[in-house]
Amino acid sequence: MELLSVVVPAYNEQESVPIFYGELVKTAEKLKAEDNIDIELLFIDDGSKDNTLEEIMKLRQSDKRVRYVSFSRNFGKEAAIFAGLENSRGDYIVTMDADLQDPPALLPQMIEAIKKEGFDSAATRRVTRKGEPPVRSFFARCFYKLINRMSNADIVDGARDYRMMTKKMADAIISMKEYNRFTKGIYGWIGFKTRWFEYENVERVAGETKWSFWKLFRYAIDGIVGFSTAPLSIATYFGIFMAFVAFILIIFIIVKKLVFGDPTSGWSSMVCILLMLSGIQMFCMGIVGQYLSKTYLETKRRPIYIAAKTSEDEEARDRTASGDIPGKTNLIKE
Ligand code: UDP
Ligand code: MG
Repeated sequence: MELLSVVVPAYNEQESVPIFYGELVKTAEKLKAEDNIDIELLFIDDGSKDNTLEEIMKLRQSDKRVRYVSFSRNFGKEAAIFAGLENSRGDYIVTMDADLQDPPALLPQMIEAIKKEGFDSAATRRVTRKGEPPVRSFFARCFYKLINRMSNADIVDGARDYRMMTKKMADAIISMKEYNRFTKGIYGWIGFKTRWFEYENVERVAGETKWSFWKLFRYAIDGIVGFSTAPLSIATYFGIFMAFVAFILIIFIIVKKLVFGDPTSGWSSMVCILLMLSGIQMFCMGIVGQYLSKTYLETKRRPIYIAAKTSEDEEARDRTASGDIPGKTNLIKE
C-alpha cells in the first residue's frame, strides 16, 4: 500500500488541530477505500506558545498515524514546511494549513492527477480573496506582478502552500538548503509538471491569522531578494541617468554664461538636487545592504530549524525509561 504524508505546520493552533484531524480522517478513509492509499499525519509544531503540542500528542496516543516534530522556538512556516518534507516517509507528500483553509476534499483529485495523469505535483490557487482586507489584496496583486517581472521563478498569483508532490519533487526541494526560504519561489524554480486546481477562498475555522501587514511586507521583500537580482542593477541605471542629466546641465550652464553672460546662481535648487541625489544613493546602498545581509546569513550555514522533540524520539526515550532498551538484546547476543 502506498503512503501519503500530510505535512501540517502549526503555530498556536490549539483550537484548529482537533478539528483539522477530524476532517482529515474522513478523507483518509475515502483514500484508503478508493485509491488504496494510507496516510501519515506529520504535524510540525512551530514553537507554539499555547497547547498545540499537547493537542497533537493527545492525537498521537490514540492514532499512530499521527507523528510530530516540535521546534525549539518559532522558526516560521517556511522552516516548518522544510522540516515536514525532510521528515516525511510517504511516496507522496502534501503540505496543508492547520486551519482548514485548504479543503481536504481536494486530496483524492490531487492524488489522481499525480498517479493517473502523470503530473509530478498538484498545486492549488484561490481565485477569490474573499474575507481579506482590500488593501492587502491590492498589495498582494502588485507583489505578484512585480516579482514575476523581475525573476525567472514563475510565481503564480494566489497560489497556496497547499500542494501535493511526489517524493522525487520533495527531494529536490530538500536539496535546496538555503536559509532564507521562499517556498513559492522554490516551487517555480525547480520546475516539474504541475496540475493546478482552483478554489474559492475559505475562511479559517478557528484561531486567527499569523500574518500582520508588515510581516507580509517583509515576506514579499524576502521573496524578491531571494529570487531576483534585478534591484541590484537599479543603482547602475540611476547612475547612468543622473550622469546624463548632469552632462546636459553643464552644457546648459556653460552656454548660458558664455553667450548670455548670466552669473551662475541658484542656491536652493542646488540643495534640492543634492538632497535628491544623496537620497537615491542611500536607497541604492540600502538595496545592496539587503543582499549583503542575506549573503551574510547564508554563509553562516545555520540549520533551517532545530527540533526539540519528535514523536519517535519521545517514544524511544519512554521505552528506555521503562527498561526496554532497544540495543540491549543485541548486546547480549553478541
Ligand atoms: N504557521 C507556522 N508558523 C508561523 C506562522 C504560521 O507554522 O510562524 C502556520 C499556521 O499554523 C497555519 C499556516 O502556517 O497552519 C498558515 O498560517 P495562517 O493561517 O496564519 O496564514 P494565512 O492562511 O492567513 O495566510
Ligand atoms: Mg490560514
